[in-house]
Amino acid sequence: MSLQLTLLGTGTSDGVPLIGCSCPVCVSTNPRNKRLRTSAWIHNEDQSISILIDCGPDFREQALVYGIKRVDAVLITHTHWDHIAGIDDLRPLALKNGKEIRRGNKIDIYVFSELAESLKRPFPYIFGEPEQIGGGVPAVEIKELIEGQVFYIKGIRFEPLVGFHGKMKVFGFSFKDTVFITDVNELPHNTVDLIKNKKTVILNALRYSEHSTHFNVNQSIEMLVKVAPAQAYLVHTTHDLEYDKLNSELPDGIEMGYDGLSINLK
Ligand SMILES: [Zn+2]
Ligand SMILES: [Zn+2]
Ligand SMILES: [Zn+2]
Repeated sequence: MSLQLTLLGTGTSDGVPLIGCSCPVCVSTNPRNKRLRTSAWIHNEDQSISILIDCGPDFREQALVYGIKRVDAVLITHTHWDHIAGIDDLRPLALKNGKEIRRGNKIDIYVFSELAESLKRPFPYIFGEPEQIGGGVPAVEIKELIEGQVFYIKGIRFEPLVGFHGKMKVFGFSFKDTVFITDVNELPHNTVDLIKNKKTVILNALRYSEHSTHFNVNQSIEMLVKVAPAQAYLVHTTHDLEYDKLNSELPDGIEMGYDGLSINLK
């Protein structure tokens, strides 16, 4: 069975629609203008392979909508809340009470070693000593990644890719013929070289105007033209970007990503 990548969410940290906003995108009835927080899912049909990239505040809804039944691992791009807030919602897939894992297997959470402490900090009841036995916690284990260190999950090769999110160093990932990078506003030369001429590149593009920690649309296009994938998709977008309008303006081979978009990985 072929391996697929499904975009579970393509929105920025606020999601789209934005709470309280009545702009044309937020009130649009086009489902492609409704964006849960950015996350992706690498899986085969029977979910014997099931790997998440990020696990944000919409994970529960994403798991229900896309029928996620099990998870092997979560790859964390960086530790902003819109990328990690769903870790507690992994409990139904891997619940730990005391020392005993009651549902599924332990889920490995892969994170850049420099961000491991900031991943643990909001979840003292998961990564510290439990206050009492009785409250279940997700059965997860952190696996720290370092730059340049290739790793394998279920036989799939993953290569971490360094990017800059303002001052914060974050990881994108290269796997199969595909690259997923979000929340960057700069890519070092070595990452640019590693992602050239892939089949698919998924890259963040926040909005039309510039931002101090995210590529805007023009900066993302400029990078994509440089690395020249056969097909690129823009994610982590705000309510500034109307799906049909931007899509009609984008160069050939670059499209807006949308929630539920699925591509075959080769
Ligand atoms: Zn984000
Ligand atoms: Zn709006
Ligand atoms: Zn971020």
